[in-house]
Amino acid sequence: MDLGIANSGIIFDIKKFAIHDGPGIRTTIFFKGCPLTCWWCHNPESQNFEPEKFINPKIEDTDSENFEIIGKNISVSDVFKEIEKETIFYDESKGGVTFSGGEPLSQPEFLLSLLKLCKNNEIHTVLDTSGYATEDILKQIQDYVDLFLFDLKFIDSAKHEKYTGIPNQQILKNLTQLSNNGSKIIIRIPIIPGINDDDVELNKMCDFISALNNIQGIDLLPFHKIGKNKYIKLNLPYKMENFNEPSDELMKKIKLKFDTTNITVKIGG
Ligand code: SF4
Repeated sequence: MDLGIANSGIIFDIKKFAIHDGPGIRTTIFFKGCPLTCWWCHNPESQNFEPEKFINPKIEDTDSENFEIIGKNISVSDVFKEIEKETIFYDESKGGVTFSGGEPLSQPEFLLSLLKLCKNNEIHTVLDTSGYATEDILKQIQDYVDLFLFDLKFIDSAKHEKYTGIPNQQILKNLTQLSNNGSKIIIRIPIIPGINDDDVELNKMCDFISALNNIQGIDLLPFHKIGKNKYIKLNLPYKMENFNEPSDELMKKIKLKFDTTNITVKIGG
């Protein structure tokens, strides 16, 4: 089914002068809502598709002062006005706009409307995605995206389902489809000790990536616990308490493994 044009969508943040979300200086638009529930998610406030309360646990009383609302409906034109304000920095740094989240592909018409505006105005576009969408949606989006930052968490689908809430067959199919269709892709792999850092899983990832085309790079993203406070503010359980952040040595060792793909590998985003 053809995607229509949206008037508005829901986001939870706009970050200006971002330097880790693609090339150059960028404006990053954070879409609210994600169909995954990764245990290690650093932005749990991105998962719910509706605006929600972010409680300040330091304020004990229960009046309206102890929370803020995360997420708001915003028009396509208002988002684009924010994007356009920084055009001079995109031009100077070869930057642009990054759509992140949450999962931008879960608001496909809002995303496509913004992508089209950017394309018409020659603004470079990056899509930071879990890759979870129908093939049909991806096909309609892909030509408007200059670079994909595509998360790869597991090859093993049962593990993917255990730790993210959904199986990954569709995600791997989408990654292969993008690669075959000539889209530029950087693969981003969160490294989480005790969850996806075993040799069997990492070897499977290397083999899978080696068989793809158009992969511009691999970013290995060390798991960290900086999102923990957000779980408290959202009154959600934090499942990562007993997991360790990876050491520098472990990250270097894993990098050596991915170096065998002959694709440029970076530690960090
Ligand atoms: S895909 Fe990204 S935004 Fe969605 S739950 Fe996982 S880490 Fe969070």
